[in-house]
Amino acid sequence: MAYDPNNIFARILRGEIPCKKIHEDDHALAFHDINPQAKVHALVIPKGAYVSFDDFSAKASDAELADYTRAVGQVARQLGADQDGYRLLSNCGVNANQDVPHLHIHIFGGRRLGRMIDKPSA
Ligand code: 5GP
Repeated sequence: MAYDPNNIFARILRGEIPCKKIHEDDHALAFHDINPQAKVHALVIPKGAYVSFDDFSAKASDAELADYTRAVGQVARQLGADQDGYRLLSNCGVNANQDVPHLHIHIFGGRRLGRMIDKPSA
């Protein structure tokens, strides 16, 4: 999957589209998902142009890696999701149905989330 500089999260980063911001630092931005699937549903994105977690982990600087990782945990705490538990999910590529080609980690919480992923179809 190629990086498209006009993807919706790149546009949010450029301030062209609004978001309900939760957290921002030098290398990460977190905001509420526009179509929440749970009481807590946040998205945490790096500010750099990375399409997926494998892309990010291969190319990002140590500072980007540190800030992004810390941002995910901070947002989970800030939203109180650490109290009863939460799930991190990052869809990467076609098999995972990634819709937006800019790395994002979903943080889901505030309800029981079921187990893992769809069972394989026959
Ligand atoms: P994916 O399927 O790529 O893992 O998830 C993309 C997520 O981005 C979806 O949960 C979708 O609701 C969210 N999303 C798409 N467009 C926007 C937007 O303009 N603003 C916000 N806050 N979330 C968005």
